[in-house]
Amino acid sequence: MSNYTQNTLALHAGYDYDTQRTISVPIYQNTAYSFENLEQAAARFSLQELGNIYSRLTNPTNDVLARRLAAIEGGAFANVTSSGSAAVFYSLLNSAHSTDNILYSNKIYGGSQTLLSYVLPKRFGIQAKSFDIDNPASLEKLIDDKTKAIFFESLSNPQISIADTKAITDIAKKYGIITICDNTVATAFLHKPFDFGVDIVVYSLSKYVNGQGSTLGGAIIERENLNELIKNNPRYESFNTPDESYHGLVYADLPLPIFSIRIITEWLRNIGATLSAQSAWNLIQGLETLELRIQKHSQNALEVAKFLESHPKINSVFYPALQSNKYNNLLKKYFINSQASGLLSFEAQSYEEAKKICNEVKLFTIAANLGDSKSLLIHPASTTHSQLSKEELEIAGITPNTVRLSIGLESTSDLIDDLKQAIEK
Ligand SMILES: *Cc1c(COP(=O)(O)O)cnc(C)c1O
Repeated sequence: MSNYTQNTLALHAGYDYDTQRTISVPIYQNTAYSFENLEQAAARFSLQELGNIYSRLTNPTNDVLARRLAAIEGGAFANVTSSGSAAVFYSLLNSAHSTDNILYSNKIYGGSQTLLSYVLPKRFGIQAKSFDIDNPASLEKLIDDKTKAIFFESLSNPQISIADTKAITDIAKKYGIITICDNTVATAFLHKPFDFGVDIVVYSLSKYVNGQGSTLGGAIIERENLNELIKNNPRYESFNTPDESYHGLVYADLPLPIFSIRIITEWLRNIGATLSAQSAWNLIQGLETLELRIQKHSQNALEVAKFLESHPKINSVFYPALQSNKYNNLLKKYFINSQASGLLSFEAQSYEEAKKICNEVKLFTIAANLGDSKSLLIHPASTTHSQLSKEELEIAGITPNTVRLSIGLESTSDLIDDLKQAIEK
């Protein structure tokens, strides 16, 4: 299978047909699984034999989605979760304990920002320090013995900055620290973080993978040979010492992708942000057309960005595929065909102008989402990022004049006409 292109894998990987040989992946709407005998049950609980026990841990429909995601990403193993937020949270909990610390990019999704800057330190005792994603060298001086993960977004939402991934992973490798990259906005069809040294890729599948704004989901994917980094690495004692909560299991002794196995045995098992089989099926439908869609989203967004850039009442436009954009070189270095997905933002001339545009558009919908086939728009400072202080907003690169667009699959002539009438009203 792995010799096929990403697009072919998105249609076929991970499904070998069940006994009914259905072409569409079956929805296993099922809670528990029957064991052949008690010996088999015991072997599964002790991880001597891998197999289904209970759907909070694994489910055959979810497994097809997970295997397909791992295949198109070029990873070793994937787990799916009930949302992208759960995927981000579990990937961090799997790396760091209370008293440890995590380094995170200053330009990330609002929910992840609040998780890192407030929830983890205040509620879980995990410290987090932000670094300037535009100056990855600044990372190094923040690293100490307790640093367990470096978290960033390949193409950040909503600031639309592109990470210099290789520069970040080079530093992480020097210290043996796990890097976690949120690849939600780019998708594996525009950017493949594992090719640039990333260890863990996380997703909100609710965005481009679903593609129609119908289903929440998340994924955590680990690279090939990640065990080499974790085994006997003093930073990762939870993988190298007996786990009291799981019969004294030492994860590093398992001949399995241990980061992912512990996501199942510790976090899905005990906290349970499990994806439903119906949702997994919906997301499998989205994967089938993801390559086609992300290319069209990218083409449409570039046309809209060029229009906005040419409009005298728009102060600036942020879209990495524009020559004028400061991330254009990083886009060319890291992104397939230099395509930049459907997310763009612009600065209106004032807060009042930004508000007017949001309220006057007719085809765009005001919504806190991206990656839908329908075009959406949001005002981050008063919505998605309203929890942030003025200082945090500034660090995150958002002003009261910022409007964020998620360009859908409509005809660009209609999208441009709509924006033009709203701007000129
Ligand atoms: C939406 C989003 C998330 C959170 O995902 P949910 O599925 O909404 O929980 C995380 N990261 C990024 C970059 C996102 O855009």
